[in-house]
Amino acid sequence: MYHKKIEEMINIVLFGAPGCGKGTQAHKLVEKYNLNHVSTGDVIRGEINRQTELGLSMKDYIARGELAPDSLVIDIIADYVQSHRESNGNIFDGFPRTTPQAEAFDKILDKSAMSVDIMLELVVPEEELVQRILLRGKDSGRADDADEGVIRNRIKVYHEQTAVVADYYRAQGKYVKIDGVGTIDEIFGRLCEQIDRL
Ligand code: AMP
Repeated sequence: MYHKKIEEMINIVLFGAPGCGKGTQAHKLVEKYNLNHVSTGDVIRGEINRQTELGLSMKDYIARGELAPDSLVIDIIADYVQSHRESNGNIFDGFPRTTPQAEAFDKILDKSAMSVDIMLELVVPEEELVQRILLRGKDSGRADDADEGVIRNRIKVYHEQTAVVADYYRAQGKYVKIDGVGTIDEIFGRLCEQIDRL
């Protein structure tokens, strides 16, 4: 298979509140564009399931719907970037979630002669987010998807600590807002339209 040089790899940040559809859309984008995909939430859940030291140190934050400490999540992404160079690029799903994470991310990518090309935010009204997560919680097996109090806390944390990250990429001319309401294929079409312009 043909692989692009690192300088030509596309790096997409998929952004939005919990339940906005990042994971679903990331899987479709991976297929279409031959990208790698990393979800910090998935990596953290994997660590917790394997009961590693890292997982145990993050378990309580996830259970409460709070963010894990920046330094731990930044290390996860630094390792990921080091070890994933064989594709057309990467989709970062659920990272960065704070401004310090975004700043560290620029440095990590820069070391590998890469940068973020675009941040795509999926915008969905709050009540729809809660309903989508409760529905997903019926079979996701995630305790943080099953408790409405925890779900609302995750959305609150998003507004208080994460939403501001959009400004970081807006200032770099890389931020694009996408209507996250509609069918999966409609939303996918909106994302592809933006990526195809790169
Ligand atoms: P997610 O699967 O993206 O909904 O993430 C689930 C949980 O993992 C979040 O509620 C946080 O506790 C934690 N988490 C995931 N990504 C990050 C991140 N970039 N920074 C801090 N915590 C994170």
